[in-house]
Amino acid sequence: MTAHFGSCLCGTVSFEVTGDFDGLYLCHCQFCQKDTGSAHAANLFSQSAKLAWLSGEDAVTSFTLPGTRHNKSFCKLCGSALPSTQIPGLLNVPAGSLDSEISMVPTAHIFSSSKAVWDEGLGDLPKFEGLPD
Ligand SMILES: [Zn+2]
Ligand SMILES: [Zn+2]
Repeated sequence: MTAHFGSCLCGTVSFEVTGDFDGLYLCHCQFCQKDTGSAHAANLFSQSAKLAWLSGEDAVTSFTLPGTRHNKSFCKLCGSALPSTQIPGLLNVPAGSLDSEISMVPTAHIFSSSKAVWDEGLGDLPKFEGLPD
């Protein structure tokens, strides 16, 4: 059994995921653009892995967009994305919430039909290891 560990930005919430992920999807839908503030979400999914909160479970809240299955769990204190079990039988773990490394590479881009207009050729941009000089 593989164990993965993660936490929120302020450190109040920490969790462990035991088991394997089935896929890592980069979702470009408009809901994910809004709730990440970025070009896409990066979510790991598993039908078999188990989630255990190690600390701060009281600080975990979630939002489901009415009329949709779009859901985000997050820390009440710092807003960081956290694992969600809102869809029965499917664990959703935001890839950036993990502190341990995963060997899985992204499976696919999804909802690419609604991707941001500036989300094009991003791999070709100049790269700085920190802030630009
Ligand atoms: Zn937090
Ligand atoms: Zn999405």
